[in-house]
Formats: sequence, C-alpha cells, structure tokens
Amino acid sequence: MKPDLFQAPDYYLLDDLLSEEHKLVRDATRAWVKRDVTPIIEEYAQRAEFPKQLIKGLAEIGGFGPYIPEEYGGAGLDQISYGLIMQEIERGDSGIRSTSSVQSSLVMYPIWKYGNEEQRKKYLPKLATGEFIGCFGLTEPDFGSNPSGMITNFKDMGDHYLLNGAKMWISNAPFADIAVVWAKNEEGRIHGLIVERGMDGFSTPETHNKWSLRASSTGELIFDNVKVPKENLLPNKSGLGAPLGCLDSARYGIAWGAIGAAMDCYDTALRYSQQRIQFDKPIGATQLQQKKLAEMITEITKAQLLTWRLGVLRNEGRATTAQISMAKRNNVDMALTIARDARQMLGGMGITGEYSIMRHMMNLESVVTYEGTHDIHLLITGMDVTGFPAFK
Ligand SMILES: Cc1cc2nc3c(=O)[nH]c(=O)nc-3n(C[C@H](O)[C@H](O)[C@H](O)COP(=O)(O)OP(=O)(O)OC[C@H]3O[C@@H](n4cnc5c(N)ncnc54)[C@H](O)[C@@H]3O)c2cc1C
Repeated sequence: MKPDLFQAPDYYLLDDLLSEEHKLVRDATRAWVKRDVTPIIEEYAQRAEFPKQLIKGLAEIGGFGPYIPEEYGGAGLDQISYGLIMQEIERGDSGIRSTSSVQSSLVMYPIWKYGNEEQRKKYLPKLATGEFIGCFGLTEPDFGSNPSGMITNFKDMGDHYLLNGAKMWISNAPFADIAVVWAKNEEGRIHGLIVERGMDGFSTPETHNKWSLRASSTGELIFDNVKVPKENLLPNKSGLGAPLGCLDSARYGIAWGAIGAAMDCYDTALRYSQQRIQFDKPIGATQLQQKKLAEMITEITKAQLLTWRLGVLRNEGRATTAQISMAKRNNVDMALTIARDARQMLGGMGITGEYSIMRHMMNLESVVTYEGTHDIHLLITGMDVTGFPAFK
C-alpha cells in the first residue's frame, strides 16, 4: 500500500467548534491510525484476518468505552470526543471501527446502563483494557431488520437459566471472551444475558467468504442448552428498547465513522487528480473530475455539520433515535457514493490494494446494512415525521 499522506479536509473550519480536549483526542487517534493501522490494514483485509495486535492500541486511545466513566476503566469523554475517535478509526478501516463500536456501545454500554454494580465491576475494566473482547448477539438467521421476532430463548431452571437458539452476523464473535445476548424468557420478554466463552453448549463458528469488512471477524453464536448463571442476566432493563438503546449509541458512532472513510477517499482522489496526467494535463484540471471533487467536499462538510450538531444534542441528552437514524443513513450513503466516485477517479489503480478506496467501498456495503439498513432508517424518519409506522 502507498504511504499514508492523509490530510483531513476541514472546508468550513469546523475545528473552531471543537474544544482543546476534542482536538487532543482526535489528533492522538489520527496519529495512532497513521502509525499502526494504515501500514498493515490492507494486508490483513486481503488475508481476511482481524489484526489482534491492534487491541492494545485501541484501548490506549480510548477506543474501548470512550464515554464510560473512568471509575469503570472507561475514558470518561463526551460524545463529540467519542465521535471523533470513531471518525479517525474508520478513516483507517471500518472493520477496526466495528470492533471498537461493538466493544464500546454494544457490550460496555449495556453492562454499564442495564447491569448491576457487580457486573460493572467484573466486566467493564477488563473490556476497557482489551483484556476481554465482547460481542453483541441480536440478529438471527430469520430475524434481521425485525429483531422482535427472535427465537433465541431462555428458561428459568431454578438455580440457572437454560439458553437455546442461534445468532448470526455477529462481529467479533469468533474470538470474543463474552457475548451480550438478547433472548426471550418464557413470557416472551426480551432480556440481555452475558454468556462467557467456555460455557458448555456455546460455540462461535466463523463466517467466511465476505467481500466486505474483511479485517473484521464475523461469526455465529450457537446456544445448545447453555447453562447461564442467574447473576449473568442484565437486571435493569428489558424489552426491545434495551438492545435498541445500545444501537442508538453505536449508530451515532457510525455516523461519525462514515465521515472518516469518506474523508480518506476524497483526500486520496484529490491528490491523485493533481498528479495523474492524461491528455497532457492533470485529470484534476478537467471539469468532470472537479465536479466529483466539489460534490464530495460539499457532502463531507454537510455531514460534518450534521454530526457535530448531533453530538451537541447527545451531550445535552436531547438527541432522539430518529435524529440518529437520519445521520447514520445520510452519512453512510454519502461515504458510499464518495467511495464509488473516488474509485472511478483512480481509474484502474482504484481497484488495487495500493490505495484504500476499494477497501473502504466494500466495507461500506456492510456499514450501510448493519445497525439498521438504509431502508429501515428511512422508515424511521418517515414514521417520525408522519406518525405512521410503515414497517408492516
Ligand atoms: C458484516 C456484518 C456485521 C454485523 N454485525 C452484527 C453484530 O455484531 N450483531 C448483530 O446482532 N448483528 C450484526 N449484523 C447484522 C445486521 O444488523 C443485519 O444484517 C441487518 O440488521 C439486516 O438484517 P438482514 O441481513 O437479516 O436483512 P433483512 O432484514 O432480511 O433485510 C433484507 C432487505 O429487506 C429490506 N427490508 C426489511 N424490512 C423491510 C420493510 N419493512 N420495508 C422495506 N424494506 C425492508 C432491508 O432494508 C434489506 O434491504 C452484522 C451484519 C453484517 C453484514
């Protein structure tokens, strides 16, 4: 892969909206990505392998539980710092950002918010340092966009719960130490359970042959009469709102992350357009390529503003699920369009691993589907503005 010459675009001088702490956190993550992620990521993506050596660095930059209080090992940062960390990590690769998102928002968040003090103390510090890696099991083979139909269930056996069912498309599953699993009790109510690797009847086969998120490890969670200790049930919230609350936090991070991928594609295409000569002039001097670049920087700038405002609302506790849906949907679609245009601007070179664009483009095909598809987020906005749910 070519040397990482990334220059972050900031067309509307949005750095002025950031505090010194925001910039410090962002720059530390940016430097780590440049030093440790971009030099190796293409090779790992080609091999379809998660680079486990990055776990320590992810923990050090605050990538595991950025907004979890320091007393539990988290970084205790605000929502804008959290977003900036996601942006910078995804500038490197969406798969690495996925590991950070899952650990922070889908594993640490539910333990922090829905768990008891013993569970917080037992798991959060180890998750914050990366000693434990977690995964989040909501999606099932027959229930993706509609998780309320889930079949995975547990029965009260007196001194333990008996868990049965299967989850699929689970990020980090093949090597996770713990899984936060969503399952129905005998009354059909959804609860979160912490399942630990090594429990009898629990297996995590890896999903192969992905063309997307190749540097992220994806797998299934299979529960065949798994005895789960009663103290592993998350006691403080149940119902579908519990997993959806985690998804709000993760989707917010994705909205920022997608900007990172888009910035990397734009920056690469801009530099290439200034250097690549055809018909005796740089391709960047042609109107067609300028149109692409002008539209890219316009869309990136709009997404940066949208997401910064969403971060302010989240800091104030005022951001709604529908507002988060809008930002996730808009920004991932924006990044995907930019990745496709940027890939074309590099001509044949755009399809190679010499440049990051094709990898971002393929990664974003998962990002546009997971954590609520592009269509489902549109339906959430539609429901929010009309008052009519059009899901069924
Ligand atoms: C790489 C990867 C990693 C993932 N990681 C995780 C994870 O860690 N944990 C986890 O729980 N899940 C994870 N997922 C699962 C992901 O969240 C689901 O794939 C997603 O929710 C969509 O579900 P589905 O694939 O079953 O598609 P479906 O729900 O079957 O949807 C298929 C198509 O139908 C459309 N559709 C569905 N319902 C409607 C409707 N009412 N109206 C109009 N159109 C509709 C969808 O938009 C989509 O285009 C991951 C997925 C991928 C690809």
